Amino acid sequence: MKLNRTTIFISISSLALIIVLIIQVNWIFQSAKIKEDIFNEKANMVLSKTAEVLSSDEQACRDLDEEVGGSEIQKTDSLFTNYMNYYDLNLNYAFEVKKPGTPGNSVSEKKKNNIYKKRLDEEVSKDGLELNLLLPKKRQFILEEMGTMFITSVILILVVLLMFWRTILLLMKEKKISEHTTDFLNNMTHEFKTPLTNIALSGKMLMRDSTLKQEDKIKHYSGIILEENEKLRMQVEQVLSMTALERGEIPLQKTKISFHEIISNAIKHINIQIESKQGEVSLQLDASNYFVIGDQTHLTNALRNLIDNALKYSGEQPEIVIHTENSGKQLVISISDKGIGIAKEYHQKIFTKFFRVPTGDVHNVKGFGLGLAYVRKIIELHGGSIDLKSEKGKGTNFVISIAYV
Ligand code: ADP
Repeated sequence: MKLNRTTIFISISSLALIIVLIIQVNWIFQSAKIKEDIFNEKANMVLSKTAEVLSSDEQACRDLDEEVGGSEIQKTDSLFTNYMNYYDLNLNYAFEVKKPGTPGNSVSEKKKNNIYKKRLDEEVSKDGLELNLLLPKKRQFILEEMGTMFITSVILILVVLLMFWRTILLLMKEKKISEHTTDFLNNMTHEFKTPLTNIALSGKMLMRDSTLKQEDKIKHYSGIILEENEKLRMQVEQVLSMTALERGEIPLQKTKISFHEIISNAIKHINIQIESKQGEVSLQLDASNYFVIGDQTHLTNALRNLIDNALKYSGEQPEIVIHTENSGKQLVISISDKGIGIAKEYHQKIFTKFFRVPTGDVHNVKGFGLGLAYVRKIIELHGGSIDLKSEKGKGTNFVISIAYV
C-alpha cells in the first residue's frame, strides 16, 4: 500500500514535470522563432530602404552596374549603416552588388539564410542588379537578445531537475531506512526473546528441578543464565557501539600495536564458538611489518566480527584461514572461509547497516546486520580499507589493508 502510494506520487510528479519541461522548451523555441521573424523583417526593411534610395539614383546604379563606382559602394555602405542603426540591428554586416546569375561571395550552406536579397530597379540595366545583405552573426545576435530569458530558463530547468532527482533519491533512501529499521526491530525482538526465554526457564528449573543435587543445580543453571546474559550483553553492546560510533561519541584510543597480537586476541575471545562448531582457524602470519597505530579494543572487535561471520556462515566444521602480508606500505590481512559465500549483487550492500543477505524464509543464522557496518567504520577510522572477494557457494574472503608503522 505504502509502496504503491509512493510509486504513484513519483509517477504523477515526474509526468507533471515532463509536461512542464516540454511546454517550457516549446515556449523557448517559439520565442526564438518570433525573434527571428522580427529580425528578418528588420533586415528586409534595411535592404528595401537601401535599395529604394539606390534605385532612385540612376547614375549610382549605372556606376554600380559597370563596377566603377568606388564612391557608390561607400554610399551604399553608409546607407546600410544608417538603416541598420535605425532598426536597432547592432551587428556586423557585409553586402555585395552583383548581376543575377554571377557567383557571389561563397557562403557556406549553414549561412545561406543569413543572406537577404533584393533586386535594384530593372530599368537600370536589362538584367537588373542584385543587392545582397549578409548578416553572418544573425544567430548569435538573436541569442544575445534572448539572452537573460534563455539562460535563466535553462538554469531554472536544470535546478528543478536536479532538485527533483535529489528529492526522489532522498525519498528512496528514507524508505529503505524505514524498511531496514522495521527489519532490525523484528530481528532484535526475535534475538532477545531466545536468551530471555532461556534465562526464565533456567530460573524456573533452579527452583523446581529435584533430580540434581543443590550445588550441581545452582552451577548448571547459573551457568546457562550467565551464558545467555553474556549473549544479550554482546547484542546490546553491538547496537550501542554502532550508534555511538556513528555519532562520533567513541574516541579511538590509538597506540602502536601489533596486529598479530590483535589476531590472536580475537581468536582467544571467540574460541568457545570455534570449538563448539568444531571449527579450525589456521594462521599464516607472513607479514614482517605488523605494527599499526590503532585502537586495540575496536580492532580486536572488528576482527572478531569477521571470524564470527566466517563461523556463522560456514555450516559444519568451518575452515578459516587468516593470512597477513606486506604490500607496499600496507599491512594486508585476509580472513577467508569456505562457507556459503555471498552473491556478487550483495557485495556492496553487506557493509550497510542492518543489511543481511536475504535467505528466503530460512532464518537459521542470527544477526542484526550491524557487524560488517561496524567493521568497515572501524577500518576507515584507521585510514584503512576493506574489500570483499566472494562467490556464492564457494566461500568468502575479506581483505583489510591498513598502513603499518
Ligand atoms: P549479521 O549480524 O547478519 O551477521 P553482518 O553485518 O556481520 O551482519 O553481515 C551482513 C551479512 O553479510 C550477513 O547477514 C550475511 O548474509 C553476509 N555475510 C557476512 N559475512 C559473511 C561470510 N563470511 N560468509 C557469507 N556471508 C556473509
